[in-house]
Amino acid sequence: MDRRTFTKLMGLLTLPSSRSFGEILKSPKIVVIGAGIIGTMIAYELVKKGADVKIIDKEFPASGASGHSFSWINATYPKKPYEYNLLSQLGIDAYKSLETEFNFDIRWNGSLEWFENDSQQEELFSEINAIREYPTYTPVEIISFSQAQRMEPNTNFGDRKQIVHSLSDGAIDTIHAIQLIQGEFERLGGESIFPCEFLKLNQQNGKLKSIDTNQGVIETDYAIFACGIETDKNLGLNTLSTPTPGIILRSKPVESLFNKIIVGPGVHIHQQKNGAIILGEQDGAPLNHFDRLKKRPNKFPSKEFEELHTERIMATAKNFTNGLESIEIEEVSIGWRPLPKDRIPIIGRIKKVDGIYVSMMHSGISLAAIVSKLVSEELLENKSIPILDNFRPSRFA
Ligand SMILES: Cc1cc2nc3c(=O)[nH]c(=O)nc-3n(C[C@H](O)[C@H](O)[C@H](O)COP(=O)(O)OP(=O)(O)OC[C@H]3O[C@@H](n4cnc5c(N)ncnc54)[C@H](O)[C@@H]3O)c2cc1C
Repeated sequence: MDRRTFTKLMGLLTLPSSRSFGEILKSPKIVVIGAGIIGTMIAYELVKKGADVKIIDKEFPASGASGHSFSWINATYPKKPYEYNLLSQLGIDAYKSLETEFNFDIRWNGSLEWFENDSQQEELFSEINAIREYPTYTPVEIISFSQAQRMEPNTNFGDRKQIVHSLSDGAIDTIHAIQLIQGEFERLGGESIFPCEFLKLNQQNGKLKSIDTNQGVIETDYAIFACGIETDKNLGLNTLSTPTPGIILRSKPVESLFNKIIVGPGVHIHQQKNGAIILGEQDGAPLNHFDRLKKRPNKFPSKEFEELHTERIMATAKNFTNGLESIEIEEVSIGWRPLPKDRIPIIGRIKKVDGIYVSMMHSGISLAAIVSKLVSEELLENKSIPILDNFRPSRFA
């Protein structure tokens, strides 16, 4: 979809049928809780539109899932229902529009995906066929082994005759992007307070008045909760499944080995513009390890454990690639996925107190650019944008 189609579609989907809630505050005070990709982008969009914005994080920017993510901006990975797929498509264009403001490290080279296991491969094709039935076009095709081989000479597709090629996917350096946006947010007058932990909401007659934090009270008209896996705890909700861990490896920069995002059996791989290779394991730790991992660490307890897991992931990746023998892994981290119970983003006002808004999702890297635009518009124009209707937190009430 080109930029013009995007703008037109956005216009059609948002403006004519948006529902207004009445009074619009002139220069509202807003606190964003959580400085991951979602909170940082929302804070930036709000300050850009003239709001008085503070962002807080109990640790530091990108300390949560965003800083430990595979960072694939995903357009076709089977998303249901259709409105979720559409939001992802719009997410790509929203990033391209943001790229006119920021020099992000994004490689828009698409992705190649296949499975070794026959039933998983069939399932993938049937998901792709379902996507093709959606009312708007999704740029995805099934290509031959030799086409795929020409695109990615360092990847070995085994005996697969067909590979899924998603044309519009990208991969971003998320931590770098958060740093850039955070810097611009502050330059535009936004205030960052780190570390600062949200503790409690204070309301008067059903309207938010202030929040208590471990750094004192913050008076505010709105509080936007973009706090990933801590959403339920912070808001007293019951919307999340148990977060699942994923291990991410980052190599020292090397010469160009991969163009696209390689979604191979067991491991995903992409290479950043700066040459670093990122490897992400598809499956997390077995369920019986969850007790041991209760505190949700972002690092392994010892170098020994770290090496054990690195060797396992590298061995899986080497099964279907060439060139990884000489790379040196310089960072190993564990990320915790924020997973809504129904796997669909949770975006909208929390009805019990006026002035509280939540934005929590998996695929948050893919969706941050579009979600932040829509959320800032909903809030500042005091309206409800229909494209977000499927994602409201009220479905869990
Ligand atoms: C291994 C892995 C791979 C992934 N791969 C992809 C991918 O390829 N593509 C994709 O789109 N998505 C991917 N995801 C998911 C994606 O990373 C998340 O959806 C996204 O990072 C969520 O962003 P967020 O800003 O909502 O949350 P987070 O980045 O988790 O940020 C939440 C912040 O809130 C702060 N916070 C929490 N409670 C409080 C409090 N009380 N007071 C103050 N601050 C608080 C935390 O410190 C944290 O910094 C992956 C996730 C993992 C773990």
